[in-house]
Amino acid sequence: QFLPLGLRVLNKIANIVREEIEKIGGVEILMPALHPKENWEKTGRWESMDSLFKLKSQLGKELALGPTHEEVIVPLVKKKISSFRALPLYLYQIQIKFRDEKRAKSGLLRGREFLMKDLYSFHRDEQDLDRYYLKVQKAYFRIFKRCGIGKKTFLVLASGGTFSEYSHEFQTETPAGEDIFYLCSNCKVGVNKEIVEKVDFKCPQCSGSKLEEKKGIEVGNIFKLYTKFAKPFDLKFLDRDNQFKFVLMGCYGIGITRLMGAIVEINNDQQGIIWPKEVAPFKVHLVALGKEKKIFGFAQKVYHSLLQEKVEVLFDDREKASPGEKLKDADLIGCPLRIVVSAKTMRENKVEVKFREKKRTQLLKVHSAIKMAKDL
Ligand code: ATP
Ligand code: MG
Repeated sequence: QFLPLGLRVLNKIANIVREEIEKIGGVEILMPALHPKENWEKTGRWESMDSLFKLKSQLGKELALGPTHEEVIVPLVKKKISSFRALPLYLYQIQIKFRDEKRAKSGLLRGREFLMKDLYSFHRDEQDLDRYYLKVQKAYFRIFKRCGIGKKTFLVLASGGTFSEYSHEFQTETPAGEDIFYLCSNCKVGVNKEIVEKVDFKCPQCSGSKLEEKKGIEVGNIFKLYTKFAKPFDLKFLDRDNQFKFVLMGCYGIGITRLMGAIVEINNDQQGIIWPKEVAPFKVHLVALGKEKKIFGFAQKVYHSLLQEKVEVLFDDREKASPGEKLKDADLIGCPLRIVVSAKTMRENKVEVKFREKKRTQLLKVHSAIKMAKDL
């Protein structure tokens, strides 16, 4: 469940993902979470996917709760495309997925229900798929950078590719991770431990031999599917040479809720979360310290000025909470900039500002503090 502050963060992450995916041509759609059994039988995954949630309607119709959407998007695209002119095509959605996980925990990292961005690409030939696949990798790094985990997130080779090829995971390095991977100190590409037998303790990317063991959270995973799903649904297009050919596909996931957990694991200290500015629930945490009415009045004015300047601000105007409590909560919640109004600051007609990740506080005129907040 997401309370107001958490939901704001989740939506910000989702919007960063939207922006970056749309930059590489992605078009947003929304598919159903309830899937007919027949679609899943066509690919054999009604039986083979053990995390598939299955249910029965009152009329006895068997359904699955979508854990991923190849079985839905391929029939959808089949209805819409017939010729090479419709390709390439990039469709994505941001939607709740369901998986009957054995190792589900409370919290964001592994749930039975979680928010995912899933993008599917459709191509005429392998070259076009390869080219787009690299574009997605770059877009993913832009997303992780904006989310404040860029420096700790690595491209990791993993199994699950069709044929002999690898799929690629994006692993955020943290002791909180449940995956183990080996990071090449030369090229900074990792290899998931699950496939390491194939690696022979040499980096498959650059043949480097210094591989360091790391723990990671898998925040994203991308696959070249080739014709794996086009075949069971007979998804073909008429090519320029008048031949019917199978459409080639790629699929690209990001666990939005898991990403939120990873962001917190990377950006925190003893006092609480230090939200990276693009995903923070609010840019400013405004605190009125003290019991007097005029302090609240002054803080109220600052609040309205911030709103007028379109700065997102969380105003702690609790009358009963102690100063210590308020400052502790500001650290715990972790908005990038704290602005305090107190008897002391008012005496100089100023406010006190402090960046969450820094120790130093500063007394500033209100307009300078507002400018600082706007510049964040
Ligand atoms: P894992 O290996 O961690 O079980 P997966 O490889 O099965 O994940 P994918 O099918 O690749 O997951 O899904 C795309 C992304 O969705 C993952 O990279 C991950 O970030 C996220 N994800 C997958 N399962 C869960 C879950 N149970 N809870 C939260 N996020 C998840
Ligand atoms: Mg995966």
